Amino acid sequence: MIKSLPFNKDHVNEWLKTAETPFYVYDEKGLRECVAALNEAFSWEPNFREYFAVKACPNPTILRILESMGCGADCASMSEIELAKASGMTGEKIMFSSNETTDAEYQAAVAAGAIINLDDISQIDNLRRATGIPETICARYNPGEFRISNSIIGDLHDSKFGMTKDQLFEAFAQLKEEGVKNFGIHAMLASCSLENIYYPMLAEELFGLVLEMKEKLGIEIKFIDMSGGIGIPYTPDQEPVDIKYVGEEVRKVYERKLVANGLSPAIQTELGRYITGPHGYLVSKVIGHKNIYKNYIGLDATACDHMRPAMYGAYHHITVVGKEDAPCDHVYDVVGSLCENNDKFAVDRNLPEIEEGDILVLHDSGAHSRAMGYNYNGKPRCAEYLLKEDGQLKMIRRRESIKDLFATLDVDEEFTERWKG
Ligand SMILES: *Cc1c(COP(=O)(O)O)cnc(C)c1O
Repeated sequence: MIKSLPFNKDHVNEWLKTAETPFYVYDEKGLRECVAALNEAFSWEPNFREYFAVKACPNPTILRILESMGCGADCASMSEIELAKASGMTGEKIMFSSNETTDAEYQAAVAAGAIINLDDISQIDNLRRATGIPETICARYNPGEFRISNSIIGDLHDSKFGMTKDQLFEAFAQLKEEGVKNFGIHAMLASCSLENIYYPMLAEELFGLVLEMKEKLGIEIKFIDMSGGIGIPYTPDQEPVDIKYVGEEVRKVYERKLVANGLSPAIQTELGRYITGPHGYLVSKVIGHKNIYKNYIGLDATACDHMRPAMYGAYHHITVVGKEDAPCDHVYDVVGSLCENNDKFAVDRNLPEIEEGDILVLHDSGAHSRAMGYNYNGKPRCAEYLLKEDGQLKMIRRRESIKDLFATLDVDEEFTERWKG
């Protein structure tokens, strides 16, 4: 897939009059088109809803855009519930999919009217103690193994999430006894999968479970949450998932397995990366270069702003603004300034000749990117901007300041005075 930017050098030069690098920019148009295509692909199911995984891009302006397109929120912590509420997502528009959960988190989720997704059978006791058992409940399934064609796409024996099939049946039997009326099942069996058959295969697995639940427990599952896990093409040689095809294939399984048996549960997804990933960009300036045993290009961004390359060795495509068509005849390591040798955005990357002052853009940085930011070396996290549909750039989160780093300290007045100089 050809990697191009929805903006050019003239736009960036205009932005740099007010915006200080590094910063993130999110493309509203691309984001809206992505959600519209997802909604369209599943429009055959009248109750379909995408619950955006808040952790991927926890900015309320982004959440509000998604809310305006009918999305709910998938939350895993108390603060994510608050972000969802502040963005207009309340009640059953929140899925609370936590693991290792405190009573206070269950209380916040139930108070918000969220649907609780139980990660483990032992959580039934915890939930009962914290809030009592609600009428609607979902549970997370971990089949241990999941195959697409002949390849295991995740060895789920090593995954800490979800319950075994036996536990799931035991949990639902118990919850039915305790008065639960509406049941849902949830499974996330892949991460960043580019296989068009991931959701259809997951549907086979989950819809089969729905039939078994009805037969063995007399429980009619009300909703099926296929969770997240659809990937995006980070490298130029990868192709995006064909979401229209995916929706159509899931529909076929739904008709064959469920409709044919008189069942029509709601379908929901919890995509994160697929929704915002391709529509976020990290914009950074070249502030240094050095040639020792290798050639390095130094950015004003660091792994504190975007840790995926440092953490997973993840590939993020780089465009040098204004040099989009120049030959990539130089090889560089592109690095940040942290006192950590893994602070590298790219290793041995073919790029055009780069000079200090150039603006580099990291593609596919709209999910699990700014969200994973941290403050190592006392680096304040960078700002976020929205590139609106009308072409205007709007700040949607300011850069952190040194003052923010002092905000959590127990310091006396004298200390504060001295710091202020
Ligand atoms: C992380 C997560 C998602 C989203 O995953 P993506 O890979 O970003 O689509 C959805 N649901 C749950 C419970 C998650 O933990």
